[in-house]
Amino acid sequence: MPKLAINGGPKIRKKPFPAYRFHGKEEKKALNRVIDSGILSGYIGTKHENFYGGREVRALEKEWADYFHIKYAVAVNSATSALYCAVGALGIGPGDEVIVSPYSMSSSAVAPLIYGAIPVFADIEEDYYCLDVKSIEKKITSRTKAIIVVDILGLPYDADPINNIARKHHLYIIEDCAQAPGATYKERYAGTLGDVGIYSLNVHKHIHTGEGGVLVTDNGKIAQKLRLIRNHAESVIDSYNPKDLVNMVGFNFRMTEYTAAMAGEQLKRLAYLFSERMKNVVYLSNRLKEIPCLEVSPIREGCTHAYYLQGIKYSREKADIPRNIYVDAVKAELMPYELRENEGVRITSGYTKPIYLLPLFQRKIAIGLNGWPWKGDIYKERVSYKKGICPIVEKMYEKNLITHEIFRPPMTKNDLDDVADAFQKVWENRRELL
Ligand SMILES: *Cc1c(COP(=O)(O)O)cnc(C)c1O
Repeated sequence: MPKLAINGGPKIRKKPFPAYRFHGKEEKKALNRVIDSGILSGYIGTKHENFYGGREVRALEKEWADYFHIKYAVAVNSATSALYCAVGALGIGPGDEVIVSPYSMSSSAVAPLIYGAIPVFADIEEDYYCLDVKSIEKKITSRTKAIIVVDILGLPYDADPINNIARKHHLYIIEDCAQAPGATYKERYAGTLGDVGIYSLNVHKHIHTGEGGVLVTDNGKIAQKLRLIRNHAESVIDSYNPKDLVNMVGFNFRMTEYTAAMAGEQLKRLAYLFSERMKNVVYLSNRLKEIPCLEVSPIREGCTHAYYLQGIKYSREKADIPRNIYVDAVKAELMPYELRENEGVRITSGYTKPIYLLPLFQRKIAIGLNGWPWKGDIYKERVSYKKGICPIVEKMYEKNLITHEIFRPPMTKNDLDDVADAFQKVWENRRELL
């Protein structure tokens, strides 16, 4: 009789995990306030205070900036829009290179392409999976204009050394903090560590409004450009008169009034949701530590971790079986989240494919058919996206890293024990998988 569920044995977990849901009466009240006002979006496209959005959008921006101790917040309709805005506002364009991370959601690496700039991938840290300062240094050329760092899985990037390198080479830092709202680096909030930070309010994130994004910066000139790009810069340029016209082709990245109203309520929940995750991760980690082939990822010294996902390092040498086989067996022991059945059990083998291995980079087809921006009169270098350029990220993706999110509130100790029991059971019965 097999013991493991993947071989037909009984599952450890027989009912779904509770959904990550926390929208309550405060959010309903905020949405009703907007509906009653009759103004679902307050933006207008001429020189006027409402060029910057309606009451709710401007209130959210003030609350967001106050919360994260930064001068300016600019609300947009997604973190992807926020990344495009940030690249645009920093004056990046054709011929420029931007150093990016291969281990992230794709938009943190493709944002430069929208402005005709070239993403150059640096490798990640073996322990923390954020961009590695030594690898960044090797990728800097006379064309480099910026670095898009990512606080991946919820841990802040190594801000002091990377900011120092950036300063030395006159590079901007865009910090993708979509996964780390509330995390800190030496008591400063993630998102506020570079020149421009971005947050996501999409449905998967710590706090969310379905969709949405927020940018932050301490630089008033950059903030103004972000606001212009958000709302059809080209049409108001003669009224607002920024010093230069670079990248003043605008978009419509405007956040609605109801999104902003709801985001304000969500922000009030962030600290609670953050500490619940931490508590659950501590409990679970203490159990996972007992399993010899697993090593829970450490937290960078001086930081707090927001735990969007937990990273677990897998040792094939200790387990004798490949990671993917182990993980598939663990997943078979568990159940999906309530109402998310079709998505399966939220445990990954390898987090995400290194972004440069996507067809877009492999074939260098991005904007149009002719290979722009890699081919053309402006960019003459040849950047490589060959397999092997970032060995550490490839190793994590192919062999070593496991990520999961089965610690989100309202998980109970029993729920967490089921997760740990599944990892433990597969460890004990791994011979069945040989
Ligand atoms: C979710 C996410 C984004 C994109 O967020 P959207 O709001 O969906 O556009 C960008 N970067 C990272 C690291 C993310 O996790």
